[in-house]
Amino acid sequence: MTAPATPPAEADGLYRKLPQLGEAIRRPEFTSFPHTMVVAAARSVLAGIRQRIAKGEHTEASLETEIAHLPRSILAALHEGERYSLRPVINATGVVLHTNLGRAPLSEAAIRNIAQVAGGYCNLELDLASGERSRRDEHVERLILRVAALRSGQDADAFARSHGALVVNNCAAATYLALNSLAEGGEVIISRGELVEIGGGFRIPDILRKSGCILREVGTTNRTRVADYEAALSPNTRLILRVHPSNFSMEGFTERPALSALVALSRQYAVPLFEDQGTGCLVDLADYGVPHQASLIESIRGGPDLIAASGDKLMGGPQCGVLLGRRELIDKVLSNPLLRAFRVDKLTYAALEATLFEYLAEELQRIPVVRMLREDPEVLFARSRALADSVAGATLQAELMAARSVIGGGTTPGASLPSFAVALHHSSLDAKALAVVLRRLDPPVISRIREDRVLLDLRTVPAHMDGLLASLLKQPLESFAAAAPEPGDEVQT
Ligand SMILES: *Cc1c(COP(=O)(O)O)cnc(C)c1O
Repeated sequence: MTAPATPPAEADGLYRKLPQLGEAIRRPEFTSFPHTMVVAAARSVLAGIRQRIAKGEHTEASLETEIAHLPRSILAALHEGERYSLRPVINATGVVLHTNLGRAPLSEAAIRNIAQVAGGYCNLELDLASGERSRRDEHVERLILRVAALRSGQDADAFARSHGALVVNNCAAATYLALNSLAEGGEVIISRGELVEIGGGFRIPDILRKSGCILREVGTTNRTRVADYEAALSPNTRLILRVHPSNFSMEGFTERPALSALVALSRQYAVPLFEDQGTGCLVDLADYGVPHQASLIESIRGGPDLIAASGDKLMGGPQCGVLLGRRELIDKVLSNPLLRAFRVDKLTYAALEATLFEYLAEELQRIPVVRMLREDPEVLFARSRALADSVAGATLQAELMAARSVIGGGTTPGASLPSFAVALHHSSLDAKALAVVLRRLDPPVISRIREDRVLLDLRTVPAHMDGLLASLLKQPLESFAAAAPEPGDEVQT
């Protein structure tokens, strides 16, 4: 609102124009809502108006308009109050693993399996053959080991004999639990170049300290050699830690030992090597035009003693952390009483099991994350062209432009995939206001802004939603701009 400031004396008069609560709620359109909800909605709308009067944002005329709209505002507040807070959105950012948007969408099979398991009882901790109590972590262990062996080209039976796996809430929990189980009170050697912050305040040095380990930093920020690790080994060393620096890349005068060199060192001195791999990537990204990326496959082949990875990054499954490693190390983690605090529920097992089955069946296109990475730019071009043609009108300009989609989620720093975007320009809304309006649609559309254009990248929009997206954009968008944009709510990737 751009009304001139109201002197205090006149503000008194404005307050008196406001209807009483009882009067405001006596309307037939509210009778279908519970009385307490109507009262709460009306109170909050009236309080908002009072606040605007106090700030001097109302003239007599603007207040009258707002009072005339009062029933509509209360009704809108009522509908808002009925809506779930967590809602599906259309991710048109092109960021495949968008941390703010829930990372990996699940496969059809995972969703079906969640629904089946959730709707009734299941054998979460029951051995169906013996009728005895069993452990929940056994449900996916063999499957994880089979998929790990299959994807890394190793003999599945031999791999399963010497390895174990377990699932916890996320990769951060997996890393913490592994450090605490294997190295509490002892020293953990880590390169200064890998003392990273993964995001959301997850800092490797803090996790090390919280897990009760003594940090032994070696090397420098840009260069660490095997000899640096070797020189730091002591009778107190419990673990060598290697962390995938997943959200940044260093260029120039840098050096980092190959995984194989650290594996050799750890075997020579019989000190276990633990790798926080993070990405959980079980495909070869080079096949999709993204070369030189660390993957879980590569780590499994490299043979560190223990690996931690996220389930909802490039693996494309539910939020969880997978620990995979030598049998005796996994057994140590399993015997940590803290495991209980990090264990996952039946829905996670249901989704993870179904996701991993797609890898076993080699049906990778059924995993949405993999499908989006593979999406043919020509298909994206055609879909974007069709969307631009169908939404362009008198007030909305829509042009096709070349763009790059980001994989995101802290997996592949600096890497991107060739894509296309529909660039929107509105005759009365600037790019920022237009992006706000798009988030007010139902379902909300999340976009990104470049050079005063709002970009829509269809790589992350399921093709069957193109029609819905077009119809959302064909509405008179300026009518959603009524209220001022909330400050500081820009989405981060
Ligand atoms: C993403 C990531 C984490 C954190 O994983 P969450 O599953 O989000 O807890 C930890 N380490 C690395 C290397 C990562 O890439």
